[in-house]
Amino acid sequence: MSGMFGVVSKADCVSTLLYGTDYHSHLGTQHGGLAVLGESISHRIHNISHTQFKSKFRSANRDMAGNSGIGVISDGDPQPLTITSRVGTFAIAVAGLIENAKTLASGMLHEGVTFEELSTGGINSVELIAKIISQGRDVTDGIQQMWTMIRGSASVLLLTWDGVYAGRDLLGRSPLVVAECDGDYAVATETCSFYNMGFRVVRYLRPGEIVLVSHRGLEQKAPGYEHNKICAFLWIYTGYPASSYEGINVEIVRERCGRMLAQDDNVQADLVAGVPDSGVGHAIGYAMQSGLPMRRPLVKYTPGYGRSYTPPSQAVRDHIARMKLIPIPDIIKGQSIVLCEDSIVRGTQLKNFTVQKLWENGAREVHVRPACPPLMFPCRYALSTRAMDELAARRAVRDLEGRDATDVSAYLDPTTDQHRNMITWIARDLNMTSLKYLTLDQMVEAIGLPREKLCVHCWDGSE
Ligand code: SF4
Repeated sequence: MSGMFGVVSKADCVSTLLYGTDYHSHLGTQHGGLAVLGESISHRIHNISHTQFKSKFRSANRDMAGNSGIGVISDGDPQPLTITSRVGTFAIAVAGLIENAKTLASGMLHEGVTFEELSTGGINSVELIAKIISQGRDVTDGIQQMWTMIRGSASVLLLTWDGVYAGRDLLGRSPLVVAECDGDYAVATETCSFYNMGFRVVRYLRPGEIVLVSHRGLEQKAPGYEHNKICAFLWIYTGYPASSYEGINVEIVRERCGRMLAQDDNVQADLVAGVPDSGVGHAIGYAMQSGLPMRRPLVKYTPGYGRSYTPPSQAVRDHIARMKLIPIPDIIKGQSIVLCEDSIVRGTQLKNFTVQKLWENGAREVHVRPACPPLMFPCRYALSTRAMDELAARRAVRDLEGRDATDVSAYLDPTTDQHRNMITWIARDLNMTSLKYLTLDQMVEAIGLPREKLCVHCWDGSE
């Protein structure tokens, strides 16, 4: 995952850039970077796997200066990078995944293109995208050519002498939004980065839309397309509660999911709780609908621990998961608890470091209610990470059938025996009193966009 922020300001932009980028810290844990245009483009990249972005870049306010800039926080290759090419000198940040990066790079190497940046997997994919864009007639043409060549998704920010170019990925999997404040412009992945700095949303970019924000204002360079396939998981888990995508707020969707979970639930519980942070909005909705009190049997010690599955090492993920939630035995003891969770991926952290803490502290019953259907497929667009054979639902299907199933549609249909058997298997495996998922139709209804405008590949495998 990655989150990007760009700004064009009449005054020095570094403080705004710093905080705007920092508001994307929930989207990445590996690299952070800023590029600022002053007399020339200066850029800084730091590894943030052990230190928060804010701490690493505190000195940027002193040693960087300029009126426009871009920033990025990511789990991918180090960025932003600065490139001098026939379309000019620019700094670039990218959010997305290029499935055919190796093929594209070897073709370009064959043609004599050189690559200087290396990352752990070989060529830095941000440099690859920058070099492809450089082959265009101009920046807009270069971005469009890049989109036709890559397989995957790539939203880009380019810092140039003309202003900041923003291009939302052709498939629309990830968002990119433009905001304005007294003639200053910002572009971001997350709209929550705008509000505390006075920016107000003026445009949710369409898939394939390219704009240039500059001191002259907002200029459309390419209109983009209607066909949208934005990631549904943004509302369920990965997005920030204060953000909106396509004008639809994350927290409101989570409340709707929680209400739907409660609507046809007949469990007799004492309280409802959410697994912090993303389960909380779902739990609020459940409480609103059911009338059960919402309480906090588990509290998160500090947001500094971040997401427990984005760091690449399992040992680090487990350590974070173990340490970040602290139980409150006085609330848990003897209680029947409805526990709302955004989703069940592998389920091991939920079992070992969440549900187990409730049992150890005297819970009478633990009823888990995920706010989306069972996950059956890994993300193809780097918006989330997991391998198919690790998914809890896949483990259940494999055990029930004695082999991997190619067609899992029956398992996704809550009226079938296959679905009921799978749920029973997962609940037993993860040590829960009961388990009930939101259905795909309910999740789509809660989001409020037509299904054809959403990517729901993780659940049904659709393209
Ligand atoms: S595959 Fe899943 S995580 Fe990836 S964009 Fe689609 S719904 Fe989102």
